[in-house]
Parts: sequence; structure tokens; C-alpha cells
Amino acid sequence: MTRPGTIVAVANQKGGVAKTTSVASLGAAFAELGKRVLLVDLDAQACLTFSLGVDPDEVVVSINEVLVGRGVSARDVIVECGDGLDLIPSTIELAGAEAQLLPRPGREYVLRSALEPLRADYDVILLDCSPSLGVLTLNALTASQGLIVPMICEMLSHRGVGQLLDTVADVQAILNPELEVYGILPTLFDGRSNHSRAVLADVGERYGMPVLGPPIPKTVRFAEAPAVGRSILTTARRSKGAQAYRDVAASLLHRL
Ligand code: ADP
Ligand code: MG
Repeated sequence: MTRPGTIVAVANQKGGVAKTTSVASLGAAFAELGKRVLLVDLDAQACLTFSLGVDPDEVVVSINEVLVGRGVSARDVIVECGDGLDLIPSTIELAGAEAQLLPRPGREYVLRSALEPLRADYDVILLDCSPSLGVLTLNALTASQGLIVPMICEMLSHRGVGQLLDTVADVQAILNPELEVYGILPTLFDGRSNHSRAVLADVGERYGMPVLGPPIPKTVRFAEAPAVGRSILTTARRSKGAQAYRDVAASLLHRL
């Protein structure tokens, strides 16, 4: 019996903190390490879907149909992408899922139930959350064993992290006692800035959370990758950013 796959949510209700980039890059890094990887796009903006080379406008069944219950199983919607990654895509229709789930009893458990049968087939399942703390993100936290919180090392970027951690505490108390915060992942890091380094030094202590590392450096390579539907691990194999994500993935291997 192999261990069921570990589900890891990548969440922060702030946009632009590199959630999607981290899911794509950590996913590619785990795949390089020989792991079976499934990525799940939980954002109606479908940036992860697009960045893996899948056109959201051409997707017929997506995570939306899985969640709002029209007899579609998660396995039915998996798309094989390059670089050894499987994807459950999103489309703009997911924007309506929150409202459709709201009146449903057990609405926070829908994703967990949908992914359960897939856990035997993957070593790791990474969930790319939308920039909100709504029902979809609650579903992600309820389905997960682990949580990674990408954060930019600038003072104002911290606002909202307390609220996220309150939500995590509620989820742990009520919906999913198994959820473990793996840590903050410092992203878009400028190592030359004293300010960034000071924030990095302070952030773990301030929130009582581990800080994953190394920090992911800010590099223009990341902006280029999604345009070709591949992650930076493929498009810029030897860049510092790619290597940082490989190191973070290696540091998380013992969780899988
Ligand atoms: P989120 O999913 O949290 O909204 P994204 O992953 O979409 O954030 O990243 C936001 C923007 O920042 C994107 O344009 C992405 O290409 C860019 N980006 C992410 N990580 C880096 C980095 N390390 N260096 C430079 N740009 C980055
Ligand atoms: Mg995103």
C-alpha cells in the first residue's frame, strides 16, 4: 500500500503574491523529483490553467462541474500537461460556484470528497487558491493536509495574514483538525533590499509560523514563463528562481 497523496493548499487572500507561480513551479519541481503531481486551479481567473498551456475558453468540463455536482468526477476533468504535470482546470464559470455552494449542507467538504478517490494516484496534490477567503478557499483548507502561504517581504503585504490565520484556526477547530501550516513562503524577494531582509527576519516570529526557504528571488524570468505554457523550471532551467523552487520542494519532500 502506498501512502495516499498529500494535499497542499497554496493560499493568501492577497492577489499578486505568487500563489499561482508557486503552484506551477513547486509542481514542476516535485515532478522532476519523480513525484506524481496533480495541480488544481481553484481560481475563476484560471491563470494556472492558462500558464500550463491550456486555454480556459476551450475547457469543456472543469473544477466548476466537479464542485457544483452535475455528476462529474474529478478524474473526468484531469488534463495531462507537459513536464509530467496533471491539471484540474478552471474556467470563468467557477465565479458562480461560490453562490451555488452556499445553500448546500456540507458545502466546505465538497472538494475534499471529490479529491479523495484521486489521492492514491498522486504523491502530491497542490491547490491554487483564489484571492479570497470565500467558500472555495474554505473547501481547499478543508481538503488539505498542509498549507503554504506565499508572501511578499514588504510591510504592507502583511496586512490580512492575521485574518487568514484566524480562518485557518477556525478550519482546524471545526472542519479539518489535520490541517498543518507548513509555513510562509517568501516570494518576489529582493535580497539587495535591507527592508526585505528585515521583514524576512521578522515575519516568522511575528506570525508564529515556520518560514520556508530559500526565499524566491524576484526575477523577470517568471513573467516570461506563462506565455509559453511551461513553468520557469523548463523555460529557465538554471535561473536562481527555478533553483529556489527546487530547494523548497526538496525541503518539503518529507511531508509527502
Ligand atoms: P497570485 O496567484 O498570488 O495572484 P501570481 O503567481 O499570478 O500571483 O504572480 C503575480 C505576478 O507576479 C505574475 O505576473 C507573475 O509572473 C509575477 N511573479 C511571480 N513570482 C515572481 C518572481 N519571483 N519574480 C518576478 N515576478 C514574479
Ligand atoms: Mg493566482
